[in-house]
Amino acid sequence: MAQDAAASSDATPRSPLPGERTVSRYVSLAEARPIECNGCGDCCDSRRTGGYWTWGDLPADQYAAMYGGPPLIIPIEPIEGGEWRDRARTELDGATLSGTRFRCAAFDSALDDASGSCRLHDGERLARCGEFPVWGDAIERELRDHSKVPLQIGAFPRCSLHDIIVVRDDDLRRM
Ligand code: SF4
Ligand code: SF4
Repeated sequence: MAQDAAASSDATPRSPLPGERTVSRYVSLAEARPIECNGCGDCCDSRRTGGYWTWGDLPADQYAAMYGGPPLIIPIEPIEGGEWRDRARTELDGATLSGTRFRCAAFDSALDDASGSCRLHDGERLARCGEFPVWGDAIERELRDHSKVPLQIGAFPRCSLHDIIVVRDDDLRRM
């Protein structure tokens, strides 16, 4: 999960070193929403985060109707040699906190590519896909209840919203 990074005390700005965490940026929701997804795909396939990012509440049909017949979200499991293989859905995958490692059949990319595309992007998409990470009502409610909302993108250093923290419009940390 996204966390606050320690602010640098250096007076002279410099570029981050490879692998170094950058300082979090505080932005309003209106400022965060125009930041475009760069299509890195790290939130579309568990393999791209070494199995960290998972799917919960996977229905029995695996959203097949939305994908025109075949399953859209496919559970996967690690095998020897750092590889992954598809596996059948089980009842456990239907639990909200199942932690199902998955791949999405609609994501077009080689695993080592830095970007890809969603074949459903311009049509009907799952609500959770369209809302991640700054769209939908949930983040608006969370912002009303809390003064800041760290986005769930700490595992995605390539995400265009990485290290962003959404705060209310009148929050002085935006300045
Ligand atoms: S439907 Fe599109 S946005 Fe959702 S997981 Fe699949 S590729 Fe990603
Ligand atoms: S991790 Fe961020 S930039 Fe990458 S596909 Fe997901 S929303 Fe887009």
